[in-house]
Amino acid sequence: MQVREAFFIGGQWVPAPGGHPLVVVDPATEQDLASVPAGTADDVDAAVAAARVAFEDWATTPPAERAALLSATADALEARKDEVAALISSEMGTPLPFAVAVQVGNPITVLRSYATLLETYSFEEQVKNSLVVREAIGVVGCITPWNYPLHQVVAKVAAALAAGCTVVLKPSEVAPLSAFVLAEIFEQVGLPAGVFNLVTGLGPVVGEALAAHPDVDMVSFTGSTAAGKRVSELASATVKRVSLELGGKSAFVVLDDADFGKAVKVGLGNAFMNGGQTCTAWTRMLVPAAQHDEVVELVRAAAEKYTVGAPDAEGTRIGPLANSNQLKRVRGYIEAALAEGATLVTGGAEPFAETGYYVKPTVFANVAPGSTLEQEEVFGPVLAVIPYTDEDDAVRIANDTQYGLSGGVFSGDQERAVRVARRLRTGMVDVNGGRFNPLAPFGGYKQSGNGRELGEFGLEEFLEVKSLQL
Ligand code: NAD
Repeated sequence: MQVREAFFIGGQWVPAPGGHPLVVVDPATEQDLASVPAGTADDVDAAVAAARVAFEDWATTPPAERAALLSATADALEARKDEVAALISSEMGTPLPFAVAVQVGNPITVLRSYATLLETYSFEEQVKNSLVVREAIGVVGCITPWNYPLHQVVAKVAAALAAGCTVVLKPSEVAPLSAFVLAEIFEQVGLPAGVFNLVTGLGPVVGEALAAHPDVDMVSFTGSTAAGKRVSELASATVKRVSLELGGKSAFVVLDDADFGKAVKVGLGNAFMNGGQTCTAWTRMLVPAAQHDEVVELVRAAAEKYTVGAPDAEGTRIGPLANSNQLKRVRGYIEAALAEGATLVTGGAEPFAETGYYVKPTVFANVAPGSTLEQEEVFGPVLAVIPYTDEDDAVRIANDTQYGLSGGVFSGDQERAVRVARRLRTGMVDVNGGRFNPLAPFGGYKQSGNGRELGEFGLEEFLEVKSLQL
């Protein structure tokens, strides 16, 4: 069992005062995997003070030097790729090949993207008689979830450091292990002391202390909508900037001229990726009512081919859910859907295995707009197929939730698909299987959050704008 007993504060590994550590459980075996310290408000104070001391020098470090450190971080992470992927896979259950390619691959790409952006990004522009300068906002508190534990961290930290901000990170208590490796790497590549600080702990303790802290200038949060609302409330007392990446209930609109076979493959791949524990997952598949049964048969056949198994077993496409709460939650939603009259096509709430937090890939058909399964984020491999009457009806159903994170449109006619995509009230839409772009703005409308991550938009989240009248 891996035991971590120190925070990373001011460039030092600072022993945690003790008390009860937080235990990380392997969701495949239900065995204890590791423990990390449970921080307190005092630990947050120490980390914020270190970040404040480091801020001025880091903010005025030439962008090329900041870029060189981000590149070195990417290289050092690449060198530890397999080790970090194995850590993530064992702490939250994602299949190992996915952990290598995405859970660690994406952070490497994102680190490099910010190093590259700094080569050309202009922090100043002239507007008539004014010089407009973009300056680092200050000390940033980052609070992150467990589903893409390193990617969510790097999406914030790489952009914040590129901007010249200093950071205090509180990773998810469910999957905190890769954050320790990132701190080791920052130490190894020579990031100046205090620029990056790590305090682990519980959301209501460490997370709330960061959100409320008077010397934190911005809080960047990814997680559930409920916790995001709490963070916003606390941050408002000191008028901090708040950026929120929250939940979703994204729709995949299959138009009547689509190749249904292809659409189902793409749609299901998205919905079940990472065991359905992806904020952007297309958990609602909207299909023309006249072809509903035909599409449902294709979905059933495809879903039943998904292999559920241990994250490190050959051929596993869906591992266990990340923790026992998730298992309870997902089963609860499956039962609610049955109680509300949706048709179970495959899967169900029965236990899949004696050990491990596994759930069967589950598909419901004829799901009614407005029902619990249609409205609420499940965060597991559970797909709702919903019939619609015409294009307007599809758009109306797609938009009729509190969320607005992502979506997809599939059609035989690219222009028609783009037209429908423009009508979706979400921050991102993939058209006919368009690929993830690590430079495109990532974030949501409505209660899916505010602010954007990745690329230039992500950098600008961490910048203040000053005008000098000349
Ligand atoms: P969560 O909200 O329970 O926890 C996220 C983080 O917030 C954790 O570090 C947690 O300790 C902390 N936290 C919890 N309560 C807090 C509080 N009162 N004050 C401050 N911090 C607090 O979410 P989770 O279960 O870890 O992750 C799943 C959720 O995250 C899903 O709803 C998912 O949609 C969302 N998510 C969104 C995105 C996105 O980019 N939009 C990405 C990944 C996950």
